[in-house]
Amino acid sequence: MMLLTARGRAWLAGLALVSAPAALPALDDEPARVVVTERDVDESNREIESAYAALVRMWREEFRQRGAPFRTPRIVAYRDAARSACGVLPPSNALYCLNDNTIYFDEVFLAAQAKIAGRALGTDGDMAAVGIIAHEMGHAVAVQAGRFSRDSYTNEATADCLAGAFARRSERDGMLEDGDTEEAFYAMARAADPELRPTGNERLDRRMAARLARARHGTREERQDNFRRGLERGSTGCMGA
Ligand SMILES: [Zn+2]
Repeated sequence: MMLLTARGRAWLAGLALVSAPAALPALDDEPARVVVTERDVDESNREIESAYAALVRMWREEFRQRGAPFRTPRIVAYRDAARSACGVLPPSNALYCLNDNTIYFDEVFLAAQAKIAGRALGTDGDMAAVGIIAHEMGHAVAVQAGRFSRDSYTNEATADCLAGAFARRSERDGMLEDGDTEEAFYAMARAADPELRPTGNERLDRRMAARLARARHGTREERQDNFRRGLERGSTGCMGA
């Protein structure tokens, strides 16, 4: 089920066009901004809703096979900002909040990701947004499977891998369209850690590097490799048997 906040509804009524800045580092020759219409958001939300249902089916089944119940995370779309058990969520974000077992996503941001990937690859781009939801669901899966690490990069690598495992399952179920895997890889590359350019100020550079290290998701190559591992080997490639 897709839960829209009351605030989200009000926005939907009042806004015909929203322009989403690309919050992620731009790849070569891609549009820096895309215009996201309400129709784009509706379409993206429909894709996300059905992907969410497929994700829930998949992980319930896998947990059953592992002999454990899966506590299904809720999913909540928001715009602008939202309150959660993990604090106030900023725009242009998607995250899994462990405190209330909920996936939150900025619906305009995800629609923009799909549109940007679609434009770059000449496809519908939907898997770029779906991949992000699959990654967030991956955090829930990893935690419940007892794979939570104190190292944030390890958690991100596992979530990327589990998103790949979802793509593998979708392929097996005949749910993957042409271009979907390319879209996922493209989205992974876009969401890679920014490359730090030295400012010349050694202290500032050190502080920026430390901050990045704490929130590290991986370079383009790392993120794509982690996704590929799940795509090729399924969840056992991410968390063991
Ligand atoms: Zn993550």
